[in-house]
Amino acid sequence: MSLSFFVAEMECPVCHTVSPATNETDMQNQLGTEPWTRFGVGDEVPSTDEDLVASYVRVRPNRDGEPTRLLQFWRCSSCGNDNWAEIEVVEARVRTIAPVAPERRSLARVQWVHELHSEELFLTVDVSDLFDSDEPRPEAWEALARNADLDPR
Ligand SMILES: [Zn+2]
Repeated sequence: MSLSFFVAEMECPVCHTVSPATNETDMQNQLGTEPWTRFGVGDEVPSTDEDLVASYVRVRPNRDGEPTRLLQFWRCSSCGNDNWAEIEVVEARVRTIAPVAPERRSLARVQWVHELHSEELFLTVDVSDLFDSDEPRPEAWEALARNADLDPR
């Protein structure tokens, strides 16, 4: 496992600066077989459950025909704010990498959340009462989805 990154030009929802498609946005993962691999839109990316579980926490299974979607933070290269990104993968290729609103409805779209940020993410949406330990757990996401009146399956 090596440190690798998703890269895309990302517009910050806070300061509206467009960050470059480099690892400056810090969308890190361990999907690459070579160190510092950069995965951009259109690139092939290892994305089986086995690949993803090394870097992401599964929050629910894929529904039939649904693209695999990952949620993680990205850092604005100008103001330094940690923003949310959704990465969509179809047939082992990156289809989109885009900023999404830091809202519960964004959580409803994804099956996987980056593990380094998952706890922070939970705190952002104030679901800390759902946990009985410091470790975020997928069950908590099911509860979150129910609380947010979203279909968890
Ligand atoms: Zn910014």
